[in-house]
Amino acid sequence: MKKLRLFTPGPTMVPEDVMLEIAQPMFHHRTAEYREMAKEIHGLLQYLFQTKAMCLTFTGSGSSAAEAAIVGCCPPGHKALVVRNGKFAERWAKVCATFGIDHTPLDIEWGHGAKVQDISKAMDADPKIDTVIVVHSETSTAALSDVEGIAKLTRDRGAILIVDGITAVGAIPVKMDEWGVDAYITGSQKAMMLPPGLGFAAISDRAWERIDSGKMPTLYNDLKAYRKSMETFDAPYTPNVPLVRGTHYVLRSVKERTLEAIWAETAMLAKGTRAAAEALGLKVYPADPVDSVTAMLVPDSVDEGKLRKTMRGKYGFQIAGGQGDLKGKIIRFSHMGYVDAFDTIGAMAALEFTLKGQGYPVTLGAGVAAAQAVFASAMD
Ligand SMILES: *Cc1c(COP(=O)(O)O)cnc(C)c1O
Repeated sequence: MKKLRLFTPGPTMVPEDVMLEIAQPMFHHRTAEYREMAKEIHGLLQYLFQTKAMCLTFTGSGSSAAEAAIVGCCPPGHKALVVRNGKFAERWAKVCATFGIDHTPLDIEWGHGAKVQDISKAMDADPKIDTVIVVHSETSTAALSDVEGIAKLTRDRGAILIVDGITAVGAIPVKMDEWGVDAYITGSQKAMMLPPGLGFAAISDRAWERIDSGKMPTLYNDLKAYRKSMETFDAPYTPNVPLVRGTHYVLRSVKERTLEAIWAETAMLAKGTRAAAEALGLKVYPADPVDSVTAMLVPDSVDEGKLRKTMRGKYGFQIAGGQGDLKGKIIRFSHMGYVDAFDTIGAMAALEFTLKGQGYPVTLGAGVAAAQAVFASAMD
């Protein structure tokens, strides 16, 4: 059997002990055992999001939790500003359109993160805007938005801020309460190193006031139903019990390791990967690079599809390509979850072989050495 290392920015590699935990015998969710576990998970999720707010666990991928938060926070009479700077950001505008939510898209050049000035200008131009939706780490372009700054602005103006933190939470600094974010979202298959299938949403008291002030047509992903069940640490529908068990296991180890240590390692892996790209003459794509995933522009002389096929088939590294307009133009490497400096050095070595195989001029070891130099000082 050939070893496959998953470097895609979701799903990511799942540790062996987590797989074994998930494989434990099935148990029923309407039991004291389940509620005890759900209660502990709630406290651990509060640590993960750095919040005292209520944290909900949805059966469904990250998008289910994001849809629930957007729909719940935007009842009739409110207007949302949706920052569109990549493929995932576009999805949240689609949610607004689908549910008939009054919204204005704010298009920002791909590769750039959302900045305070962009948001404040858009809010100045349309005083009806009282809700802002941004993606913290836009995985499709590997760009970082200034959530801390934007949260300060939305707080000052009394607006609600909804943040897609699907590749931010558990990877890069996220401080929901300190910054003043109203709804933060993540999913199981990115930094949480679990299989896909759970979405998580932390909802502030301010957001609950908004949610309770109106009514939206929603049933399965209804925040209010989830809140009611949480009173007894239950779930409104049958939860994904094995993944809930896995969440319990993973979050305990995250807390033991500390978020600060995880954020530092993710930042180190990103820095080393960017240094490797530069040493190989590949440009880092985004203007505002995020640390949870790195996107590199593929040189004109290199076939991107063939590159990824070789990386996977010949060398056992599955990486991601570009989406939408970036298809065929970039490659992306994840730094989230169960991945370390030595996996990353291996990925850079495989990238060198692959580029060389396509006739691109490479000095073998140049990218590896650049990454190693970064890791050496960080791991010292
Ligand atoms: C992966 C991802 C999503 C989609 O999450 P699903 O779990 O596939 O629903 C949304 N936003 C960002 C930033 C992502 O990286």
